[in-house]
Formats: sequence, C-alpha cells, structure tokens
Amino acid sequence: PVTAEQLLAAIAPRSEPAKREAAERRQDSQEIVLAFDAKQAQTQAERCLSCGTHSICEWTCPLHNPIPRWLERARHQGEQAAVELLHQTNCLPEVTGRVCPQDRLCEGACTLRDEGGAVTIGNLERYVADQALDQGWRPDLSDVVATGKRVAVIGAGPAGLACADRLARAGVAVTVFDRHPEIGGLLTFGIPAFKLDKSLLARRREIFSAMGITFELNCEVGRDIALPQLLTQYDALFVGVGTYRAMRAGIPNEEASGVCAALPYLIGYTRREMGLEASPAWPLRDMAGQRVVVLGGGDTAMDCVRTALRQRAQEVTCAYRRDEANMPGSKKEVKHAREEGASFEFNVQPLAFETDDQGQLTGVRMLRTRMGEPDAQGRRRPEPIPDSEFILAADAAIVAFGFHPHALPWLEEMGVSLTRDGRIQASVTSPRPYQTSHPQIFAGGDAVRGADLVVTAMAEGQHAARGILDYLGVVTRP
Ligand code: FAD
Ligand code: SF4
Repeated sequence: PVTAEQLLAAIAPRSEPAKREAAERRQDSQEIVLAFDAKQAQTQAERCLSCGTHSICEWTCPLHNPIPRWLERARHQGEQAAVELLHQTNCLPEVTGRVCPQDRLCEGACTLRDEGGAVTIGNLERYVADQALDQGWRPDLSDVVATGKRVAVIGAGPAGLACADRLARAGVAVTVFDRHPEIGGLLTFGIPAFKLDKSLLARRREIFSAMGITFELNCEVGRDIALPQLLTQYDALFVGVGTYRAMRAGIPNEEASGVCAALPYLIGYTRREMGLEASPAWPLRDMAGQRVVVLGGGDTAMDCVRTALRQRAQEVTCAYRRDEANMPGSKKEVKHAREEGASFEFNVQPLAFETDDQGQLTGVRMLRTRMGEPDAQGRRRPEPIPDSEFILAADAAIVAFGFHPHALPWLEEMGVSLTRDGRIQASVTSPRPYQTSHPQIFAGGDAVRGADLVVTAMAEGQHAARGILDYLGVVTRP
C-alpha cells in the first residue's frame, strides 16, 4: 500500500502565477498578478486531495464554495463546467479569486498547507472564472419562473449584488440602487485597479443586467429617492450600504494641509483612472515627489501605500502600531507593497502632525511602543517606550485607521433599529435571516457586521436573500 509520505511526495509543489516586475508595475495601475497558463492551472488543480465531501477549505470559505468539486470539474470537464458549479455559491468568483485574503480563509485551511503549500485556490478560482467568462459562458436562467415579486436592493456593493443574484435566480424582479455611476461599491470605488481591474465590474453589470436585474445608478436613497416610496413600490428591501465614516487619527493638527483620509484619496485616484471627474468629496491628490506616511496596517493602508508609489512619491512609509505578525491585512499585499519599494515602521504610535508656519505638514511625531503582557483576554497591547519620541519627516500623511458606520437617518426614521455603534441590527438568527426591526427591510454586509471583507459581505447578502424569499413566501428548489 502507498504510505501518506509517498502520496505527498508525488504531489507537485505549489506554484503561484507570475507577477509583473515591481519597477514596471509602479509605472501604471494595471493588475500585477498575471494569469496562470493552462498547464500551470491543470498542475495546480491536480494538487487537490479532495478530502471528503465537506472539506475544511469549503467550510472555511464564508460562501462555502464546493472547492474540491469545482476543482475536479476544472480538471476533467473544463472551466465552463467548473464555473457553472461555482456560481451556485459565488456570483463573483473572478473578484473573490483576486481579493480574498486566502491565507486566512480557504487556503489557510487546506490539508496541504504544511505539506508543500496549500492548493492555490484563489488563483485557480480567478483562472476558471476569467477563462469561462472570456469564452462567453453566462449564467443560464432560462428555466427560472417569474414570481411576480419585486425587491429593491440599496447599494451595489458585494452584499447587494450577492443578494440580487440569489433573488433573480429565484424569479424575483430586482432593482439595485446605487449613488455611484458604476456597480461594485468598494470593489470599484475603493480597491485599486492594480488589485482588481475595473473592467471586471463593468462586465458583471452586463451579466447581471442580462439576468434581468435592473440598475438605477447615480441615485442616492434618502436624497434622490425616498425610502417610503421604495417601501410602497417593492415587496421587500435589502440595505447593503457599507460603512463610510473614516476613523480619525485623533491627534493635533489633523486638519493640516497635507493630511488626508484614505478612502477619498483612493476614490479620487480611481475616478481619474476611470476617466471620471474629480469632485470636492473625492479630490485628486497627487503625491508625486512627496514623502508620504500612511498611518495604519490593514488592506486600506496597503492600497494607499501602493497608490502613492504609483503616483511617483519620493518615499512612502507605512507606520503601524503593532508588529508585522499582527498586521490585520492580507500578507500577500504587504509583500507586494514591500516589493514595490514601501518602507515600514512597526510598533509606533502617532502623537501629532507637525506643521510649518503656513500650516503645511512637515512630519509626524511618533512614539515607539513594545507589546505588553497579555491581558485577561490574552491580547497583548502596544505599550509606549519612554523617551522614544521621534519625527518622521513627511509632506503628506494618509490616515487609514478603518471605518465606522455612517449615519442612516432615512433608515432610522422608518423604525429600523441600529446598534449602539451605528450598525444596522440584523443577523443570521433574526426571525428571518438578516431581517431588521422593520419586517419589510433586510440588511447585510459592512453596514451590519462593520467593515470587513468582500466575501463576508457576499455571504450576508445571500443569507438575507433566503430571509427575503421566506418573507415573500417564495418556495425555492432545493
Ligand atoms: P460597499 O462595498 O461599501 O458597498 C456599499 C454600496 O452602497 C456603495 O456602492 C455605496 O455607494 C452604496 N450606497 C451607500 N449609501 C447609499 C444610498 N443611500 N443610496 C444608494 N447607494 C448607497 N476586502 C477584501 O476582502 N479584500 C480586499 O483586498 C479589500 N481591500 C479593501 C480596500 C479598501 C481601500 C477598502 C476600503 C476596503 C477593502 N476591503 C477588502 C473591504 C471590502 O471592500 C468591504 O468589506 C466590502 O466591499 C463591503 O461590501 P458591502 O456591499 O457591504 O459595502
Ligand atoms: Fe477562498 Fe474567497 Fe474563493 Fe472562498 S470565495 S474559496 S475564501 S478565494
């Protein structure tokens, strides 16, 4: 009999797709990770051990994508068959394959993780989706029977899109409202193009439209259209409006010229790349020739660092209060930033923005910290090191400390309860999944769970769709 050691020794090593050279990718905003070729994809897909019917990778994926089964289809039946199965749980595989922090999710749970490296699930997901869509594969809804029910989805981010997809597949007429001119939410107006090409969302808009989903873009609910009007016109509503109140640094001189918040900075840059006009809310800030400090250590911080490098900043430093091992973002993005020339200052706490007489930023006053003893919950917090203050010289500083929920007066006025920190109250254990205190209104994504991930927002959108179908009395096929 073959031993486990012999079996593992016969498996090809993990390999990643090629990346563009760092010096080249700093010159533009195009995606940096190149696609697998067909042979690489086949070899990497063959590494999957198909560990049982419900493997751990599948359960660790918030969408519960049937990973071993679609990989098997990709190996034996081709990309279109694989993507057909993938779409039963994931309506944006070309997106999740690119932006999920796989090291913390599916790949982190792969049996081969410590035996030559996890299966490259993310890149294979991207590969099969890109191939199938390029070949013209589209979701087939020809046998869907219209229910006569109508649902409005507010917010075309991943939560809203995943909800709309499930509802359309169940025969519900869906209209998605968004204040932006394109769908995607933070996928389009947040995550930079070098991680996720903007044409992918434009293609998805066409695919969703062909599925019968209607989009009302450039339309802000609560301003351009009132919620009571939607409640009258539609049988149910889904609210997936994200979280958009940026956390402030809370230190002196935050209003200084040269200090800005992460999201307006990223949106301003992306809008320019998309050929859209700059606006007062999303001004274009040019970092060319500047010394830039980015405060924060998550995905947003890394996106700012890499955007400033592409704008030809003189130097870009990411300053984070913990050590590298405790950075909250995806490890692959930290690696990409470092390759592209970013510097890092770990275990530092900003004390004040320093300015000249004209109020222009000249640097960030910092204090060095060290990790303290674990508290009752076992968490080690950074503690200041006495007499360790120093000034990090800077012409520009970008604050990327994360997001709080923004005010939703138009929703509260209709009796929808919020949590103390402003998130919409709804959960998987609501009377119906993700039903709010207003029975006709459901919610999900960042607006419910707080700023998190694309894939968790999608999972909540899908759960909410189940709740809505139950509320509408629509019986779905198992
Ligand atoms: P959003 O994506 O925020 O979408 C909400 C939508 O609602 C928006 O389009 C908004 O315009 C619209 N809207 C709001 N109010 C109204 C209204 N009143 N009327 C009409 N429309 C309205 N996650 C990852 O998994 N991987 C990453 O690499 C990653 N990188 C990120 C980088 C940045 C810079 C940021 C900010 C976030 C990143 N995230 C990442 C997190 C991820 O993007 C979010 O968790 C996810 O997009 C949340 O989805 P959502 O649908 O809940 O909200
Ligand atoms: Fe992994 Fe994300 Fe795909 Fe799930 S959706 S299998 S977590 S890459």
